[in-house]
Amino acid sequence: MVAEPARSGKPAPGRFVHRLTPVPAPAGETRLNLRGFFGVFRYSRRAIELVWSTSRALTVAIAALTVVAGALPAAVAYVGSLIVDAVVAAMRAPGGDATYVIQLVILEGVLVATIAAAQRGLSLCQSLLRAQLGQRVNVMILEKALTLELQHFEDSEFYDKLTRARREASSRPLSLVMRTFGLVQNGISLVSYGTLLIHFSPWAVAVLLLAGLPAFVAEAKFSGDAFRLFRWRSPETRMQMYLETVLAREDHAKEVKLYNLGSRLLQRYRDIFNRLYREDRALTIRRDVWGFGLGLIATVALYGAYAWIALSTVRGLITLGQMTMYLMLFRQGQAAVSASLSAVGGMYEDNLYLSTLYEYLETEVPPDTGVATRGPHPEDGIRFENVGFTYPGASEPALENVTLHLKPGSSLALVGENGSGKTTLIKLLTRLYRPTTGRILLDGLDLNAWDERALRERIGVIFQDFTRYQMLVGENVGAGDEAYFEDEQRWREAAQKGQASDFIETLPAGYHTQLGKWFREGRELSGGQWQKIALSRAFMRTRADILVLDEPTAAMDAQAEAEVFEHFRQLARERITILISHRFSTVRMADQIAVLDRGRVIEHGSHDELMAANGRYAHLFTLQARGYR
Ligand code: ADP
Repeated sequence: MVAEPARSGKPAPGRFVHRLTPVPAPAGETRLNLRGFFGVFRYSRRAIELVWSTSRALTVAIAALTVVAGALPAAVAYVGSLIVDAVVAAMRAPGGDATYVIQLVILEGVLVATIAAAQRGLSLCQSLLRAQLGQRVNVMILEKALTLELQHFEDSEFYDKLTRARREASSRPLSLVMRTFGLVQNGISLVSYGTLLIHFSPWAVAVLLLAGLPAFVAEAKFSGDAFRLFRWRSPETRMQMYLETVLAREDHAKEVKLYNLGSRLLQRYRDIFNRLYREDRALTIRRDVWGFGLGLIATVALYGAYAWIALSTVRGLITLGQMTMYLMLFRQGQAAVSASLSAVGGMYEDNLYLSTLYEYLETEVPPDTGVATRGPHPEDGIRFENVGFTYPGASEPALENVTLHLKPGSSLALVGENGSGKTTLIKLLTRLYRPTTGRILLDGLDLNAWDERALRERIGVIFQDFTRYQMLVGENVGAGDEAYFEDEQRWREAAQKGQASDFIETLPAGYHTQLGKWFREGRELSGGQWQKIALSRAFMRTRADILVLDEPTAAMDAQAEAEVFEHFRQLARERITILISHRFSTVRMADQIAVLDRGRVIEHGSHDELMAANGRYAHLFTLQARGYR
């Protein structure tokens, strides 16, 4: 087994870490050991299992064809020797009869045709499997993605695994299986050649196998190095991929052009390539020099054996037919050995892929322990009790000692500078993250005890970076309540409340207008229009009794924002509304206001109370109010 590359400090989420100095290989990894050697087969079993469970019929067919394609070449060589000997015998016999010779020739023709059929069959099965397997692996990847927590997606290394796993999902598992079967096929051939060759001399068999061995071992070792090299450099390849996205995608093009960033970013892209290329080149050169040198041994062995066989024939120890056969066995044996070599080289790369895939698929997801669908005190609403939270890998807490109580029917506004922890509070409330300290109660029950689905159904959230689905306008609204995703009546009602219906009706296909640039005739909306869509989405959640608006109205004017919030409050008689906004004209309408500063609640009360206290809130409010005058 190839050891995992040592990982130096985990990069902070979202940040790119230049890690150019290769991590030293763990002791014992520099020399080739047997486990390293067999590393090529590490994932073969799993790949075969995957193929087996995808299509048993095709797997059986491939296995059977592999055996046929592996065993028959030796038979062809054997029949070939019989033909030569029969020809010689017929020439010597007076009035020689050629019927036997013709029969043998026909037999050989049939055998060769069978081999061709088997090979054709193998590539047919391969094409059929490729489609099925690609789909299967992609579905596995996406199904896993559904079970992951938000923090996984925000972890750069994890994200890396996910993208790499998706990128080659359709080709790698199949390639590993085919190469494994290819090795088996060549192995069968070699064994069958050996069985025939052993009649000439057991030493010849030894020469055939041993001559190929050094090159085989070298190939395995260098492929192992390549494997490790690829794994270490994932931050660089990730940066390259990111640069590709920035340079070539429509959502970035605007800024890249206006700020003239293009050539600088492209230069970075080139630099990374050049660095990686230097490392690659060194490895490739070493690999090929060694490959050539050790390959020479095989050639020398082949011609040594050639001479030996020829001499034996001259001395009359073997027949002419046997000579033809042994030479053919040797040549084809060599070809089988070198085919195995290149299979091994490719298998390491496939293993690399499969290791990422399985690491991703086996990511541990904390079990969802909660089962409760209701709490003991529905009249109690939401309570934050001394809640603290630190992002994984962060040194400073994002929230500390937050205590708040929200009764049904009340509203809360969160105020604070960027980065003061407002969104984090919402992420905790929606259980996208779990508090590091303290607890959050809903209806008198710890959030952790709630069944995830039941909990999420209670809450409707519109984040500031809400998702702009490249789907129909109506579906963008319907996304707010999965059960009514395609319910046109509901779309219309929600859009009405979210003040989006006016502009939606002016769109060419109304609610059925396709949005987004990815699709032909896809329309783009303005920022404010998108926000209205997002708000309408929140209004879809008629069953949710907690509504959270995280600055979704920033692109609207102050008047529209205030109207929207008022609308929400009216609709929300028994609901809890939480609003994050920088506009105090809206904030003041909330029943309670909490001012956050670096993760702590520094002021808390109604607008009037906070104004009377004349603290931070009063200061900010006056400042903004002056701006409006
Ligand atoms: P606000 O919503 O008030 O602007 P946030 O709650 O988004 O602030 O962020 C609070 C703090 O947590 C900030 O210091 C921010 O850098 C940090 N933070 C936010 N999201 C993450 C994350 N996914 N990983 C690590 N730190 C984060």
